[in-house]
Amino acid sequence: MNAVERRSQATQPHMLPTEAVSSSHDPLEAQVERIRRIGKQLFRVADCVVIFGDRAGNVFHSPIASAETDFCAGLPKPAGVTVVPDARLDAALGRHPAVQGAPNVRFHAAHPIHDGENAIIGSISLVDYAPRIFSETDGRLLADLAALVEREIHLKSVNASQVNLQRQNKSLRRKSLIDPLLGTWNRGAIMRILMVEADRCEKQNLPLSLIVVDLDHFKKINDTHGHPAGDEVLVKVASRLRSCIRPQEALGRYGGEEFLVVLPGACHETALAVAERMRQAVAMQPETVGAVALNLTISAGVASTAQFPSATTEELISRADVALYAAKDAGRNRVMQADAGHV
Ligand code: GH3
Ligand code: MG
Ligand code: MG
Repeated sequence: MNAVERRSQATQPHMLPTEAVSSSHDPLEAQVERIRRIGKQLFRVADCVVIFGDRAGNVFHSPIASAETDFCAGLPKPAGVTVVPDARLDAALGRHPAVQGAPNVRFHAAHPIHDGENAIIGSISLVDYAPRIFSETDGRLLADLAALVEREIHLKSVNASQVNLQRQNKSLRRKSLIDPLLGTWNRGAIMRILMVEADRCEKQNLPLSLIVVDLDHFKKINDTHGHPAGDEVLVKVASRLRSCIRPQEALGRYGGEEFLVVLPGACHETALAVAERMRQAVAMQPETVGAVALNLTISAGVASTAQFPSATTEELISRADVALYAAKDAGRNRVMQADAGHV
């Protein structure tokens, strides 16, 4: 097979379908494959080979294996534009086995590929099996292709850092909303949820109810068993309270051992039933903390826009608070509903 036959075989149309359809889902890889195809067509060469590496040592080259890729992978990265019109006449390339024997490379032109800090990370090369003249215009076109590859690499790194930033933001935002000890919403978050839900319920003409929950005689637990045991009790009570609400309802830590529960769409009867369920869930059986079993109870106050249609969220909270303290006064371990008295 002479050089012309080899060249025409390398560019024969039947080879194109395999190359035209890239199985890659990596956008960078797909774009580089497109640039490779453009390079091949534009310069009418056997191949346009793109190879580059990143600082982590990962090397990128076309997933489609070719003798041209193997040839280019073995050459040093070009420091600038390199053109070898006929490899047989070139001092360095002339001794290359792929020039002296099969596949008998003749023409090679390469342009460096730089990263964002202008370091050379690879090359875009043209390889052919017949000698050829490479004009200044050809050189500019090859530089344009190299710039396209560089742009794709840059886009990929911008994308990657954006995804990373978004991930960090999301995790930070979550952290800033969650109580680190209990895993419930923190005060800021539950207040925000209350605002948003109150607004939505008002627009949709739905009631909204809330429950303020407080542990009974919690100070005694701290005093008797120590603060870490108190923390453990809080975690366990929060988990029992959480088990009483549905996903669209929200539980937040309102204060030290005080919780606020937001129930969008719930009327006061429903809210009373939820609060009663919470009371029973806590009182039902003792909580084991370390080696001791503790009998725990909660008191709760309930208020609803179903009873106080014109109440602001602050007013609703203070009405539920008044009901909570009425429950404490009445002996604790009970649920009270806000009444129409003064707040
Ligand atoms: P009452 O039945 O009237 O509510 O009595 P109480 O003892 O629960 O009420 P009080 O407000 O007097 O005490 C609440 C205690 O909760 C005081 C505080 O030290 C404790 N506390 C608040 N936050 C935490 C916490 O994160 N961990 C622990 N272990 N204790 C906490
Ligand atoms: Mg208490
Ligand atoms: Mg309290």
